[in-house]
Amino acid sequence: MTDCIFCKIIAEEIPCFKIYENDKVLAFLDIMPVNKGHVLVIPKEHKETISDLSEDIFKEMMAITQKIAKAIIKGVNADGFNININNKEAAGQVIMHAHLHIVPRSKGDGLKLWPGGSYEEGEAEKVKQDIVKFL
Ligand code: 5GP
Ligand code: ZN
Repeated sequence: MTDCIFCKIIAEEIPCFKIYENDKVLAFLDIMPVNKGHVLVIPKEHKETISDLSEDIFKEMMAITQKIAKAIIKGVNADGFNININNKEAAGQVIMHAHLHIVPRSKGDGLKLWPGGSYEEGEAEKVKQDIVKFL
C-alpha cells in the first residue's frame, strides 16, 4: 500500500530502529514508546488486522514475538511485558497495517490495564454460546 506508514518502513522509505527481520515479519521500536523498549511486530504483507492474516503468518508473528520479548526483558531489564494487538478503530488501532505491541513492564511503572466488568445471572452462558457457534 503506497500510503501506509508501515509499508514504507518495510520498504525502507521511512527509517526505523530495526530489532529483527525475516522474509515474513519485521520488528522495530515504537516511535512513541509506552515504556522504553516497546517493540512493534508487523507482517511484511499489508493486511489491516490480524483477522486478515493467514494462519502461517500469524504463527510466525507469535513465534518472533516470543523470541523478541525474551530479548527485551534482558535488554531493558524489565520485570514483565504485555502483548497488545489493537484491531480496528474501535479498539484503538491508528495504523491500519496489522501489528502487535510488546511493551516491557517494570514493577510500579504506574500503567493501568482495563477495568473488569461483570455478567448478569445466566448472561455468561449465552455469551459463550454466541461465540462458540462461530468456531
Ligand atoms: P496502534 O494504536 O495503531 O495499535 O499503534 C500504532 C503505533 O505505531 C503507535 O504506538 C505509534 O507510536 C507507532 N507509530 C506510528 N507511526 C510510527 C512510525 O513512523 N515509526 C514507528 N517506529 N512507530 C510508529
Ligand atoms: Zn501497510
